[in-house]
Amino acid sequence: MKNTIYAVVIAICILGAIVVFVSRRGKGGAGINSIADSQMIWVKCAKCNQSYEMGEKQYYRELEEKAKANPSPIPVAMPLKCQKCGQDAVRKAFKCEKCGEVFFANSVPADFEDRCPKCKHSATEAKRKARLGQQ
Ligand SMILES: [Zn+2]
Ligand SMILES: [Zn+2]
Repeated sequence: MKNTIYAVVIAICILGAIVVFVSRRGKGGAGINSIADSQMIWVKCAKCNQSYEMGEKQYYRELEEKAKANPSPIPVAMPLKCQKCGQDAVRKAFKCEKCGEVFFANSVPADFEDRCPKCKHSATEAKRKARLGQQ
C-alpha cells in the first residue's frame, strides 16, 4: 500500500514538472503566467489615498490592458482604476513589515523600491543583509 502511495506521489511530481516545463517554454519564459494566483501585492490610490491588496497576476493583467488601450512610445506604468473611488490613480505599493505603513513603490528616490518613507525599513535590504550575515 505504501509503495503505491509513493508511486502516485512521484508520478504527480513528474507530471507537475512536465506541465511547468511545457507551459514555460510555450509562453517564452517568465511573464504574467509565471506569477502564482495566490501571489498578492499592495496597491495604493493617489486620489483617495486608500490602499488594498490585490492579486499580482490581476494587477499585471490590468496593467497590460491599460498599456494596450493607451499606446505610448515610452513604456510607462499606467495607474489602474481604484476599487474604492473608481478613478485611475492606483499604483503598486508596499506594506512595511516594521511599521505597517503602506506606501508607493519608489517612495524614496534612488533607493530600494520598497524603502519605507516613514521608518526607512526595506524588506529587500533586510533580506540582502540577512544573506550576507549567513556567509
Ligand atoms: Zn481611490
Ligand atoms: Zn516602515
